[in-house]
Amino acid sequence: MAFTLEERQLLGIHGLIPPRFKTQEEQLELCRLNVERYLEDLNKYIYLMGLQDRNERLFYRFLSENVEQLMPLVYTPTVGLACQKYGLIYRRPRGLFITIHDRGHVYDVLRNWPESDVRAIVVTDGERILGLGDLGAYGMGIPVGKLALYTALAGIKPHQCLPITLDVGTNTQTLLDDPLYIGLRQKRITGADYDDFIDEFMQAAVKRYGQNTLIQASTRHNIAFINMKHLFSILQAVYNTEVPVYVPFLIFQFEDFGNHNAFRFLDKYREKYCTFNDDIQGTASVAVAGLLASLRITNTRLSDNIILFQGAGEASLGIAQLCVMAMQAEATSVEDARDKIWMVDSKGLIVKDRPEGGVTGQKVLYAKNHAPIKNLEEVVKEVKPSVLIGAAAVGGVFTPEILRDMASFNKHPIVFALSNPTTKAECTAESAYTNTDGQCVFASGSPFLPVTYKGQTFYPGQGNNSYIFPGVALGVICTGIRHISDQIFLVAAQALADLVSEEDLEKGSLYPPLNTIQKCSLKIATRVAEHAYKHGMLHGSSYMRYGCRLSCKTTPQI
Ligand code: NAP
Ligand code: MN
Repeated sequence: MAFTLEERQLLGIHGLIPPRFKTQEEQLELCRLNVERYLEDLNKYIYLMGLQDRNERLFYRFLSENVEQLMPLVYTPTVGLACQKYGLIYRRPRGLFITIHDRGHVYDVLRNWPESDVRAIVVTDGERILGLGDLGAYGMGIPVGKLALYTALAGIKPHQCLPITLDVGTNTQTLLDDPLYIGLRQKRITGADYDDFIDEFMQAAVKRYGQNTLIQASTRHNIAFINMKHLFSILQAVYNTEVPVYVPFLIFQFEDFGNHNAFRFLDKYREKYCTFNDDIQGTASVAVAGLLASLRITNTRLSDNIILFQGAGEASLGIAQLCVMAMQAEATSVEDARDKIWMVDSKGLIVKDRPEGGVTGQKVLYAKNHAPIKNLEEVVKEVKPSVLIGAAAVGGVFTPEILRDMASFNKHPIVFALSNPTTKAECTAESAYTNTDGQCVFASGSPFLPVTYKGQTFYPGQGNNSYIFPGVALGVICTGIRHISDQIFLVAAQALADLVSEEDLEKGSLYPPLNTIQKCSLKIATRVAEHAYKHGMLHGSSYMRYGCRLSCKTTPQI
């Protein structure tokens, strides 16, 4: 209804819409009223997805101006419910579904995607959706939701974002039996067939959209960017050299793959493609940001702390690795840094030569010369950590006794209950404050309401990955970083920690308010760009408004 009379006449739609003209503000009000009217969050989600299909501009304005209220709908926790009911709430397709049966033709499937200028792919195989397990093709809600945040929180253009589900089957029997299921009805393909499929996908995506195609722009070459040709010739004339032009490159965000594949693919692809894993690296960054901010309360260096993790999976190992880097930045050696980090997994304290349940993978780095201990309460008494981080999805495991012990060793114990959803949180905010006599510095993965204890009100911060990944993606896209190092996530963590005000800390929050998250994204992107420039990672590229990146290798002043 925003069409003017002239537009309606020119388009031949006069009379096809009601006579009233409505501004976007008036339309926003309508959205607000509609969302409020729905009682169930899932219905609000369905309404919002409908809006995204119908009027993308309105959807993004609505979302970006109401982040605090709407993010929990398009993202966790509601998106989790939406994924579980994806077959029921399915209206229109969104995102690209590529199945194991497309092997050999993945590129052709990618060519069916109607947009030609894609910069960011969020991809899942649906094996570990949030804390909900294997949802197969129902996992599509996750890449869709994450990419909505790329746009709403970091201003990345929606047509440059491509959500992808790689459907290799599901091992969840209820889904295989579900008449509404939208994916392949078969058990997951694993092994070499699965790996080859992922390889083919990566290659095909880069072939279709990616960085490999480096074009030398010169008048002799018939380059694709006709509209930029003039600019190139000017640059060539000015610098008397050929200007190398990178065609749009591509960032891959791996999301909610199973633990085993997540670590494997991160190692396998990080040097080959522009890729990161949000569950490992994004989580690490947001958690370390909170830790860095907490140091201003405890008046310590990170290296002065002893950190105990409950859980040794994607989240914990990612955070531990980034903590080591942050300690190295304080001139602590890697060995000393690892010494400060203790971990507990499903078999108990991670110690060398553990009789029950050997220690493998990255866990080895943190295995201690110590007798095995099974029980977390005993571990806490023995290790006496100053920082306690929970990411094992075992709800309530930070008992009042553990919290009281933490307060007895530390003036300000730092406690992060990161497991999602809320029911899996290691302790509630209330329990954290009351059992530590209000001394605890608390953050959580799921949101908690403010807690008033002895007349003081605490506003616990939420270590939400969406503080980090949209800003990192924006920085990487804008600067053309080819490979995303862990250092980038440390830079992002420091940038976010710097945005935490004294006022936030006084309120008990280790993160800036959620409604300032766009500012955080921009700051993170800027710091990532500065880092890239300083360390020569730019490949001399700068991102031009019309989607072209020019090399500045020889001419940094561009
Ligand atoms: P994951 O890779 O599956 O790791 C889970 C870890 O927990 C494993 O190391 C497992 O031990 C351990 N574990 C399981 N039961 C345990 C028990 N009873 N006692 C001690 N350890 C136990 O999962 P993840 O990706 O790390 O995610 C874990 C949790 O963190 C989820 O709830 C997720 O929602 C949350 N998370 C939060 C954020 C955030 O707040 N920003 C970000 C990411 C993840 P084994 O190694 O022995 O199997
Ligand atoms: Mn995830």
